Amino acid sequence: MTDASRHSGTLIVGGGVIGLSIGWRLLQRGEPVTILERGEAGQEASSAAAGMLSIANEVHYQEDLNLLLRMESMRLYPDFVSELESFAGSSVDYRTEGAIAISLHADDTAELKNLFEYQLERKLPVRWMSGEEVRELEPGVAGFVVAGVMCPMDHQVNNRLLVSTLRAAFLKAGGTLREHCEVSELRMEDGRPPAIVAQGEEWRPARVVLAAGSWSGLIPGLDGWLRPLVRPVKGQILALRMPSPDFLVHMLKTPDVYMAPKSDGRLVIGATVEEVGFNRDFTAGAGYELLKGAWRAMPSVYELPIDEMWCGFRPGSRDNAPLLGETGVEGFYVATGHYRNGIVNTPITAKYMSELILDGNRPELLLKLSPGRFASGA
Ligand SMILES: Cc1cc2nc3c(=O)[nH]c(=O)nc-3n(C[C@H](O)[C@H](O)[C@H](O)COP(=O)(O)OP(=O)(O)OC[C@H]3O[C@@H](n4cnc5c(N)ncnc54)[C@H](O)[C@@H]3O)c2cc1C
Repeated sequence: MTDASRHSGTLIVGGGVIGLSIGWRLLQRGEPVTILERGEAGQEASSAAAGMLSIANEVHYQEDLNLLLRMESMRLYPDFVSELESFAGSSVDYRTEGAIAISLHADDTAELKNLFEYQLERKLPVRWMSGEEVRELEPGVAGFVVAGVMCPMDHQVNNRLLVSTLRAAFLKAGGTLREHCEVSELRMEDGRPPAIVAQGEEWRPARVVLAAGSWSGLIPGLDGWLRPLVRPVKGQILALRMPSPDFLVHMLKTPDVYMAPKSDGRLVIGATVEEVGFNRDFTAGAGYELLKGAWRAMPSVYELPIDEMWCGFRPGSRDNAPLLGETGVEGFYVATGHYRNGIVNTPITAKYMSELILDGNRPELLLKLSPGRFASGA
């Protein structure tokens, strides 16, 4: 085994949007950064996602911590995007038309109304709409749509463009990206950040950030309370090709599926939520359910060609909020468990983690997301 690097900088395990964005922010402050990525950067959950930056449409009862984090991140998003795009010289297709949640029946409508009241209590700028008003904005929705909730804060990006733009920014800022380089062990040593073993080389960086998404808890060497409690939550998702940009302009959330129109002509329809480990099959059942759900809300999707079908693994934690921050081992940090919200929470994660590492900043919200919060007695 060779001792590849005994350097003063930060080594990040995992090159998804989380690893890349933290790396970019650290580089901007003059910190040397190396990312070790098992495959190609951003090709796992970060490319599989739908790219929705959902605030109101991701509200779930009892998930206020998650909501607060997303709202903080959305405050940063417009500036994050302009800075990233002008630095890297490419677009991430940031769209601000908003999202509409719709109901198709009386019981869906009662459920939507309850959620709407909860959203209002949380002071979200949502607006109730009749079925008629929904159809005025989106003429393609079914004639029997009963009601809708307009969520103007819910924006979107093309997450695949976000991945490629972050990768370009990371490299342009001087980062080292080692792809096809799997970390096979994190070797814990007393009073020091772990040594990293990858492809027969041992790395001894000054700081280590574990950002390996759904695989973060599987790397050998992380035992007991140091092992992040994340699991893969499979999502199957597909894209149709729209005949014109006005086919659907807003994101649409139906009782069964969501639909996100992209400026490249794809209409992304997702997604299943399955606890089946790392099974990568795209199943007939998932395709059927997704297409049926989209067709019920918007019958004209029936005619559209299928562009692509794929799946990915959301890194799920026990409370659906990410694990962010210090581990208790000097110089060893974790940034994972972003579950359904890793794209929307990219700017806030990069800010919190880079400022924690370089300045020791520990805002209250970050402390609440401590990776140790699930340890017994914590
Ligand atoms: C179907 C689907 C739809 C989604 N839609 C949305 C959405 O609309 N909005 C939203 O905000 N979020 C969405 N998400 C969630 C979002 O995609 C994730 O939360 C986010 O991408 C997580 O980013 P990450 O960098 O932590 O993980 P990943 O993108 O999975 O990156 C982790 C990286 O670590 C690498 N790695 C793993 N093990 C090792 C190792 N041992 N050594 C080196 N590298 C390693 C992997 O190869 C991978 O590239 C969706 C997810 C899915 C699956």
